[in-house]
Amino acid sequence: MSKKNAQLTLKNLHVSVVNQQTEEHTPILRGVDLVVKPGEIHAIMGPNGSGKSTLAYTLAGHPFYEVEEPKKNKTEFLLDGEDILEKSPDERAAEGLFLAFQYPVEVPGVKVQNFLRLAYNARFVNQPQKLFAKVIEFRRHLEGLAKELKVNPELLKRGLNEGFSGGEKKRVEILQMAVLEPKYAILDETDSGLDVDAIKAVAEGVEKIRRKYNTGIVVITHYQRILKYLKPDFVHVMKAGKIVKSGDKELAAQLEAEGFEKLES
Ligand code: ADP
Ligand code: MG
Repeated sequence: MSKKNAQLTLKNLHVSVVNQQTEEHTPILRGVDLVVKPGEIHAIMGPNGSGKSTLAYTLAGHPFYEVEEPKKNKTEFLLDGEDILEKSPDERAAEGLFLAFQYPVEVPGVKVQNFLRLAYNARFVNQPQKLFAKVIEFRRHLEGLAKELKVNPELLKRGLNEGFSGGEKKRVEILQMAVLEPKYAILDETDSGLDVDAIKAVAEGVEKIRRKYNTGIVVITHYQRILKYLKPDFVHVMKAGKIVKSGDKELAAQLEAEGFEKLES
């Protein structure tokens, strides 16, 4: 099943944020290297403003973030060996890349189950054998996943995130992740603003998905809390647009005790 070159590869990634009025480019990421293999959990930690969300948005293909050609050493941005730098956000999703963000959007009037059906159909647009012939068949599939992830099925009939609590939003987002069967998933501060029970539920859901689909996970977090439940194989520290240190979960514990300031690059 897993291909020889199955990995998400980032090499020498330089990214600027583009001001939409002045078109001015401000460099944020200054040469990020990261390799994520299927089934691995990577945590990216770092102080506010270090570029963690910029990395997530860049992976998603957000138009405000521009990958700049470095002066030396070519940039690589590969998903299972395929260059996805020029691909649109939808095309990236269809390749199996999933991104969950800190602030989920509210889409009143669009029921969760319909939103997820469209997302599923877009994800598998290139794999017709994965598509369900009838809406009711998808519903059954969705209800099965909701049960597995302990998501209240009543939520599926409500408007997306409309009046949802913080915990409900996150659970539905994790359900969305399960629906999309991602090869690689990036979770940006998906733990922020959640109480301990919700963090635990999210972490358990992510772990279930990882085991089921052998998803490579990148969890971006400011705190160590979620890493108590989601055990990282690798921990990376980002500072001023670069990964300045990588290690195992001991590094996360060290950061918790000593803070980011002490870390020397
Ligand atoms: P983190 O997620 O680690 O807190 P961000 O990636 O959000 O960091 O931000 C890194 C830096 O880039 C910050 O200085 C931030 O102000 C700047 N930045 C990010 N996005 C934008 C944007 N759309 N416009 C202007 N500055 C931005
Ligand atoms: Mg951020």
